[in-house]
Amino acid sequence: MLLALCGCTAFGSAPAVLARVLPTDLTPLVVRGYGPTDSDERGLWQAFDTLEERLAASNLLVDDPILKAYVQHVTERLLGDVASDLRIYIVRNPDFNASMAPNGMMIVHTGLLARMRSEAQLAAVLGHESGHYLRRHSLQQWRSVKTRTAIMSFVSLGGAVASASTGYNWYDLANSINNALLLSIFSFSREQESEADAYGLQLLREASYPPTAAGEIWRQVIEERKASAAARNKRYHDTSRSAFSTHPPSDVRMNDLNETTAAVERVDPNGAHYDDGRTEWSAAISEVRPTLIEEQIKLNDPGASQYLLDSLAQDGWDSALRYYEGEVYRLRDEPGDAERAARAYATAVDYADVLPEAYRAHGYAQLKAGNTDEGRRALARYLELRPDAADVEMVRFSMGQ
Ligand SMILES: [Zn+2]
Repeated sequence: MLLALCGCTAFGSAPAVLARVLPTDLTPLVVRGYGPTDSDERGLWQAFDTLEERLAASNLLVDDPILKAYVQHVTERLLGDVASDLRIYIVRNPDFNASMAPNGMMIVHTGLLARMRSEAQLAAVLGHESGHYLRRHSLQQWRSVKTRTAIMSFVSLGGAVASASTGYNWYDLANSINNALLLSIFSFSREQESEADAYGLQLLREASYPPTAAGEIWRQVIEERKASAAARNKRYHDTSRSAFSTHPPSDVRMNDLNETTAAVERVDPNGAHYDDGRTEWSAAISEVRPTLIEEQIKLNDPGASQYLLDSLAQDGWDSALRYYEGEVYRLRDEPGDAERAARAYATAVDYADVLPEAYRAHGYAQLKAGNTDEGRRALARYLELRPDAADVEMVRFSMGQ
């Protein structure tokens, strides 16, 4: 996995000292069309095949053909032929996370995609997760799990049906099959994480993405956590620093990444021509991005949410970013926030390409402030743009007041 946020830390015996792994030490342990080689590995694959079937049948997946094709294209650019052995699932979950199963099922959370600023950053994630697959980390991890006998009986267990609308997330889906299974992809050792980091950097360089993209992601994550803590008047505490953690502490890991990046770049000091693909990424994500940002805003973690908006806005503010800025204030609801939200909504409807929901928010804010005409005009515009919205009747009623 890319980052442990799920708290399964007291697992396995993690070495206290982390040795940095250089990409030159690594070769792939699987080739295209690889399949399990013994009964241990077959059992592990079967378990994940079952999980994958249930996930594919759930309503937790983002089904956007443009985004899916784009992610597949980036994976092919990174991995070549082997990419056809991987299946990438974009799962609705606001956590910043991604994980890799041994059978080729890769899970990327919407919360991760919401935070990516370029194709190179996405490639850094895909490269890291592919590193776990190509180095067969799950199998190593699986063989070290003491409770592994338990997994063999997973098939007989009934599973809860995962559904976004009923509040289940895919962790529950995996849990319903077997706890040990979930742990085997969520608890790679520190060395394995370092290997995956190094492998990912190598893949980035070979595909002409700037290897610095990986370190950027970590910087963003650390800064966001600090912003989240500061907004709650808490001191930032790097929880992965615990002795029980199987994941390298974030700042240590970021420094390792940056040093390995420097080593990777020295390999090819003259010929390197990198393109971070910022424009391509913006185009691919634009359709679904508002819903991904909304998942984060609804967590009502104002520090983290505002950090995310400011981070994305470095590439330019737009209607959706301003609208969600207003939503952060509305949900926080401290003195002065209603006025701040109203200002953000007013700015949001000033863009050429307006998010329809911005008109609704602006309309209500103006009605509340006593600007009846302006409020009604904005709500009418919302209804024009979203004639099938679930709240059409309620909005009409508000306009008539
Ligand atoms: Zn990982």
